[in-house]
Order: sequence, then C-alpha cells, then structure tokens
Amino acid sequence: MRTLITGGAGFVGSHLCDRFLAEGHHVVCVDNFITGNRENIKHLQNEPRFELVEHNVSQYIEISGPIDNVLHFASPASPVDYLRHPIPTLKVGSLGTHNTLGLAKAKGARHLLASTSEVYGDPLVHPQTEDYWGNVNPIGMRAVYDEAKRVAEALTMAYHREHKINTHIVRIFNTYGERMRLDDGRVVPNLMGQALRGEPLTVYGDGSQTRSFCYVSDLVEGIFRLLATDFPEPVNLGNPNEVTILDFAKEILELSGSKSQIEYRPLPADDPKVRKPDITRARKLLGWEPKIDRREGMARTLRFFAHRV
Ligand code: NAD
Ligand code: UDP
Repeated sequence: MRTLITGGAGFVGSHLCDRFLAEGHHVVCVDNFITGNRENIKHLQNEPRFELVEHNVSQYIEISGPIDNVLHFASPASPVDYLRHPIPTLKVGSLGTHNTLGLAKAKGARHLLASTSEVYGDPLVHPQTEDYWGNVNPIGMRAVYDEAKRVAEALTMAYHREHKINTHIVRIFNTYGERMRLDDGRVVPNLMGQALRGEPLTVYGDGSQTRSFCYVSDLVEGIFRLLATDFPEPVNLGNPNEVTILDFAKEILELSGSKSQIEYRPLPADDPKVRKPDITRARKLLGWEPKIDRREGMARTLRFFAHRV
C-alpha cells in the first residue's frame, strides 16, 4: 500500500504518517510548510518507506508510481493561522481538494477529506449531527476556512457521484495533543503555554462558550477505520465530552500547578458558542469512540509543551 498524505508535516498529518507507516504502508507526505513543522517528521527522515515532497497542493500534483490512498489534510487549521493566510486557505480547500481528487481519480485511489466541525458554523442544533446543514456566515472572517471546507465537501461528493471515486469525509472536532505548535493560537497551546510560562491565561469573551476536545490518537484511529469503509457521507469524529472554555482554563491551571491568573479578552467575531459532536454514526459504522479522557490527554500534552516553552 502506498498512501499519500497532504499536510503530512502538520499536527494531525504527522501522526497519520506514523500510523500508516506502522501499518506497513509506504507514505508520501506532501507539504509546503505554510503552518507545518519539519520537527514533526524529523524522526522519519531515515525511514525508507517515507518520502517527503515539498509542494503546494493548490497547484497540480504530480506523483509517479501507484497510489492507493489519498488523504487530504493540507490546510491552515487554527483561526489565527487561517486569518493570517486567508487566500491560501481558500485555495487549499477548493483548488487543493480538486487536485487531490483528480490525483485519486488518475491513480484509482481511495480519497479521504479532512473536513471540520466548522462546516456547522455557529450551530443552532446541539449536539451536531451529520445531517445538520450548519449556520455559517459566508462573508465573515472565518468564512475563508468554513466555506473552503464546505466547497471541499461538495467537490468530494461530486467526484464520488460523477466519477465513482471511493471517497470519505471526516468532520473533525477540536483535536489536541503532541506536535501542536505552541504559537498556533488555538486554545490548547495558548493556555498551556501561558500556564507553563506563568503568564495570565487569555480567555476570550466570558468563557461560557463550549468546545469538546479529542486527543489525537483517538482521532487517528477513527480516520484509519473510516478509510477502510465504502461510506462516502460525512462522519463526525470527536470527543463528546463538552466543557466551557473557562472551566477548561481552570483545569489547565490545576493540572499544571500554575499560579497564573485568568485574563478576559474580547470574543473574536463569529466564534461558535457551542460545539459538541454527536458520534452515533461513528459508533455504529466504525465501532469507534474516544478512549483517552481529557485529563489524561491534557497531562500528556502539557508534558510535551513543558519541554518547549
Ligand atoms: P496544521 O496546521 O498543523 O497542519 C496543516 C498542514 O498542512 C501543515 O503542515 C501545512 O504546512 C500544510 N499545508 C497547508 N496548506 C498547504 C498547501 N497548500 N500545500 C501543501 N501543504 C499545505 O493543522 P492540523 O490541526 O494538523 O489540521 C490538519 C487538517 O485537519 C486540516 O485540514 C484541518 O482543517 C483539519 N482539522 C483539524 C482540526 C484540529 O482540531 N486539529 C479540526 C478540524 C479539522
Ligand atoms: N480561546 C480563548 N483563549 C485563547 C484562544 C482561544 O478563550 O487564547 C477560545 C476561542 O475564542 C474559542 C475556543 O477558545 O471559543 C476555541 O478556540 P480555538 O482557536 O482553539 O479553535 P475554534 O474551536 O474556535 O476553531
């Protein structure tokens, strides 16, 4: 098996590279390092079954030899990153998805798209089920990401219906763990870095907004299982254990033993007020559910960041 992973030098992508290599696959990692990190794949540089191709997948992708699976994970994913790179984000979701689908078609490969809970926008249905169409502001700041992922899903279904490609769509809910960038701006690295440095923890708004955090190994297991199915419709993967951002900040203070204070900052525009996956579909289809609870996952992630602050 030869598996191509776009965004393979990123946080989730690098864990996928490890997993597919562990399963005996050859892995082709395609990344342009816009938000990725060479450190994430450094341990693979002498692995003969690992290949790195430095390329922007929003441009035509040329790969020689057979490919069995194409996993499209390239995209800035943190709100800070995608606001810093709005047009590359729109391009990689639209043009990049088109190119990876074209590659899968040319190679007769399976395709799996990394979509996101952001397709639900600021959701009016809670918890979010896959049949909910979402509440997205198409011209807001977050639209460069949300709408790119929505068009990515539309392209994927069109290639499935028109070209009979074996496609998969995973809607990923907030995932965290080792190899996140300390400065990517997402709540986990931000608050953990601040706690470890003894700086105030920045909570946006009043902290009553909720998220549901999934540890990365659980996500990777779900993705691996989904790829083996012939199920083309979206599947939510995430941990349904929901927490307010304020309580999450307090948990970080407790776990890290930090004496930092909590400091309130303005809530960014269109910040979803609630988010929690309904994972009934993943449970039935994949026999999957998260195994690592938040305390355990957070303790592991804190240990990782402790060596890097
Ligand atoms: P990340 O920023 O760590 O990884 C993204 C990777 O894609 C980086 O290595 C980056 O350099 C690469 N990339 C971006 N644009 C590219 C391009 N045009 N060509 C080649 N490479 C490019 O982010 P992540 O958290 O690992 O997210 C990975 C994927 O999972 C993204 O598609 C994201 O939308 C999706 N996702 C992640 C989460 C999460 O909580 N981590 C949630 C929902 C969806
Ligand atoms: N957030 C926060 N402090 C920070 C960073 C983020 O309170 O330093 C909040 C943010 O407003 C959002 C939640 O934490 O409500 C999760 O933000 P993140 O950037 O991780 O991703 P999102 O889930 O919004 O895509």
